[in-house]
Amino acid sequence: MSAVSVPVEINRYALLSDEECAERIRVAKEKLGERVFILGHHYQRDEVFEFADASGDSLKLSRIAADSSAEYIVFCGVHFMAEVADILSSDEQVSILPDLSAGCSMADMANLANVERAWQELSSVLDPDETITPVTYINSAADLKAFCGRHGGIVCTSTNARHVLEWSFERREKILFFPDQHLGRNTGVKMDIPLDQMVVWDFNQPMGGLTEEQIKNAKMILWKGFCSVHQMFQPNQIDNFKAKYPETIVISHPESSFEVCQQSDYVGSTEYILNTVRQAEAGSRWLVATELNLVNRLAAEMKPKGVDVHFMSPTVCMCSTMFRIDPQHLCWVLESLVDGKVVNQVSVPKKEAEQAMLALQRMLDLPI
Ligand code: SF4
Repeated sequence: MSAVSVPVEINRYALLSDEECAERIRVAKEKLGERVFILGHHYQRDEVFEFADASGDSLKLSRIAADSSAEYIVFCGVHFMAEVADILSSDEQVSILPDLSAGCSMADMANLANVERAWQELSSVLDPDETITPVTYINSAADLKAFCGRHGGIVCTSTNARHVLEWSFERREKILFFPDQHLGRNTGVKMDIPLDQMVVWDFNQPMGGLTEEQIKNAKMILWKGFCSVHQMFQPNQIDNFKAKYPETIVISHPESSFEVCQQSDYVGSTEYILNTVRQAEAGSRWLVATELNLVNRLAAEMKPKGVDVHFMSPTVCMCSTMFRIDPQHLCWVLESLVDGKVVNQVSVPKKEAEQAMLALQRMLDLPI
């Protein structure tokens, strides 16, 4: 994501307290009525999350965005999510990200220039358009989704990664998976792909730091990207917690490392984590590896039901870029809409959107 300039009007809002903003957000929402639809990702802070008309993970929210008929879709999430909302919604609808600097550090680890270079370098060993399906995690910029669209590739989320990989292997023998190596590896392991057939492409090195033989032998070529939040979880945190509470059930997001996922009882997307823990028996104790805001809300929800939910890391790790969406920015974009002014629109260029849509549609067409 390129650097964004900060408009001066937001400075006035920066002086408002969260409580003042909450009141003004309520008023603005009421005035806008059905013209506005607010989507809130699970990782959002509470003061923003409470205003979401719908909440969910990337897949759920992208489907909701596609079905919405509201004039304005305000996405309380990060930049790639607002791009997906723009691509999936109609030309008349406007996608808005309350703070344009809310990016995703993982998405930024793969850019089009590096992926195109990788594709070209791979072509010195094999014919990538014949042998490799490019698969991008939804946590990526629109131009990478467009790259996948152009090259017979597809988008995946943490919910449907396995189905997407199966779809891909039915078409070509290998996969180039970006930007998150962990989701790729953890999904590949579930499909019984041996670890030595999942090699890591280091985009800072010629030929990804791989030999010709490694590339030829690989089933999956994993981009060397990761989520700065989920990489904080470590196997020793599980060991330490279980030393105190041996009966603990461990559940982790697949953006966590291979070692953490191997030591977990359950591995799945944020929706999967929520659904699984919500069905837990009273008296059970859970250690959860995903973003702090989600875990805190889940812990509060489950406490009255006698289910004990703990965050895996002893240090605070929340998504700092998502945290940039605060009540002040939300208040600003909504009041601007009331005044007839659109601020912080996210708009994907038409051709790029069409090609990205090809890759998104292949995912949405899967029977899941
Ligand atoms: S939690 Fe990780 S992957 Fe998700 S938006 Fe934040 S940095 Fe990106």
